[in-house]
Formats: sequence, structure tokens, C-alpha cells
Amino acid sequence: MKIQPIGQYGKQLTRLGLVNCFLVREEDGYTLIDANLKESDQEILEAATGLPIRRILLTHPHVDHIGSVDALMGRVKGLELIASERSIPILQAPPDLSLRAGEVGPIRGGTPGIASKVTQTVVEEDRVGSLLVIDTPGHIHGHQSFLDERDGTLYSGDQFGSLGNLTITGFMPWWFPMKAFSNREQAKDTATKLLTYPIRRVACGHGKVLEGGTELLQSAIDRALCRD
Ligand SMILES: [Zn+2]
Repeated sequence: MKIQPIGQYGKQLTRLGLVNCFLVREEDGYTLIDANLKESDQEILEAATGLPIRRILLTHPHVDHIGSVDALMGRVKGLELIASERSIPILQAPPDLSLRAGEVGPIRGGTPGIASKVTQTVVEEDRVGSLLVIDTPGHIHGHQSFLDERDGTLYSGDQFGSLGNLTITGFMPWWFPMKAFSNREQAKDTATKLLTYPIRRVACGHGKVLEGGTELLQSAIDRALCRD
């Protein structure tokens, strides 16, 4: 697993050059944003040097973001598991993929579920330590992103990818599976909504961390409009 610092408070943990999760340092320990693929628990624990991991905060329930949740919940005493309320039925094993009123479906992408139970749900404008919760629908229902208000890092989950330029989910290269199962219109609206936040860099679920704020997000929106 490759480990790289992000700003003052974050660490990017990358497996297979493609799948990210992030450790964010708080006063009481680390918040782990997403839990990467299966069998990443040992390396995640080793990357959390000097401080305990206190909580796992999930952007969404796809397989490459929840793979090591159960292993970590089993190994770390008192670990909290935090997600959106909408994610809960999708997180259970087997998952309940039924749609709610007004939702467009079907729900796509690998959703194997987990055995662990969510210990806390969060809604938009909640804060988890230094992280502001922002609803970012488009990739999957209930998707959330987290803005570290100390240094302007947006942990965007799969709202964006950065395998090259910053790209809105659904507008990824043809070879990347995120393209197939996102609601492109909703994801574009979410990107526009994010223009109003004080973002200074974007840390995506897949790809490198990109420096920039409004102009970076706007470039992703402009490219999406060209590819409509
Ligand atoms: Zn992903």
C-alpha cells in the first residue's frame, strides 16, 4: 500500500495504484475515510502511526470502499462506524437494493454488504471531528463527501475520479466501471453544488489528490458539458 501525506492532517493510502482510502488526524486519533479492498486492514493499521483509529466514515457502500470494514471492526476496540442513513440497507449482507420514493435506479456496482453494524448515521451539515458532511448524490444513493474545514481538503469519495483530470463520476474513461453506474445529471448537479464550499484540494476514491478549488471543480463541470 502506498502512503502519501495530504496537507497537514491527511494521509492517502492507495492499493493497486487505483483504490484510495484516507486517514485524517484529529485530536483524539484518526478518522478513516472508507476502508479500501479486503485484506487492507493490516496496512491501514500500520499507516496509523502513533494514534489510534477512532472511527470509520464511509462515503458509500461499494465493494472497494468497505472491503476491510469487518476486519478493522474486529481488531480495533470501540471503533465507530459512521455512514448515511440511506446507506444502511445497502450495507447489510445481503444488501437491500430496493429504491425509495423518487429515486432513479437500479442501484449498480458491487455491494456485497458487511457484517458490522453502523454505530452512527450522519446527515448534511453534521460534523465528524473537523469534517463537514455534504450529501453528494449521483454515484449511488446516499453518497456523502467530507470537507476538512481546517485545510480545505474535500474527501469526495466517488463523486469525482482523478485518473488524469478531475472528472465527475459518470464521465470517466470508457474503461473505468464508475462510468456505467452513475446518474450523470445528478452528479453534475452535485458538482455545481460543491462550487459553493471553501474547497482547496480534492481527494478522490480513485486517482491522485488534486490541488485547487472552484476553478478545478469548474473545469470538471465544463468537461462534462462537452461530453454530454
Ligand atoms: Zn470506488
